[in-house]
Amino acid sequence: AHIFPTAWTGINERTFLAIKPDGCQRRLVGEIIKRLERKGFKLVAMKMMHASEALLKEHYIALRDRPFYGRLVKYMSSGPVIAMVWQGLDVVKTARLMMGETNPADSLPGTIRGDFCVDVSRNVIHGSDSRESAQREIALWFKDDELICWDQSTESWIYE
Ligand code: GDP
Ligand code: MG
Repeated sequence: AHIFPTAWTGINERTFLAIKPDGCQRRLVGEIIKRLERKGFKLVAMKMMHASEALLKEHYIALRDRPFYGRLVKYMSSGPVIAMVWQGLDVVKTARLMMGETNPADSLPGTIRGDFCVDVSRNVIHGSDSRESAQREIALWFKDDELICWDQSTESWIYE
């Protein structure tokens, strides 16, 4: 009965977010999900997983020549992550704003990284940096049938 949108743009834009192992260890899962939910974005996929080094190497492939790449993959595979897909108008850009900057020291209070962490290598959340990255990362972390197409009854109060 659900009609899939022909394009993942406009109110159907999607992004890939992941609560990193430190976010899980520090019991920030509920707090982070709460912020995105309250904002008005729609959760369309979520799973807890212990990501493999192979998956994380591919996820962070653009950073393979950076000196911290190996440590980054180790950290990200050191415990469970919460992998999620969120949907909504301008969700890629807005989720990045809600996360704050890569370095928590540059992140304003009120952002997730600004409020909950201090070290660039323990910055609690990942978010796609562009629509193209979102598409690549969603395909890497999720199968098509893990993405839920659903109508939220509040939608007409969030969008005109
Ligand atoms: P993001 O998109 O804001 O997550 O930042 P990047 O894509 O540039 O980097 C990916 C992740 O690598 C960051 O979230 C950090 O966890 C880590 N990272 C980035 N820069 C550094 C750094 O200078 N040192 C270390 N140790 N980790 C870093
Ligand atoms: Mg990035």
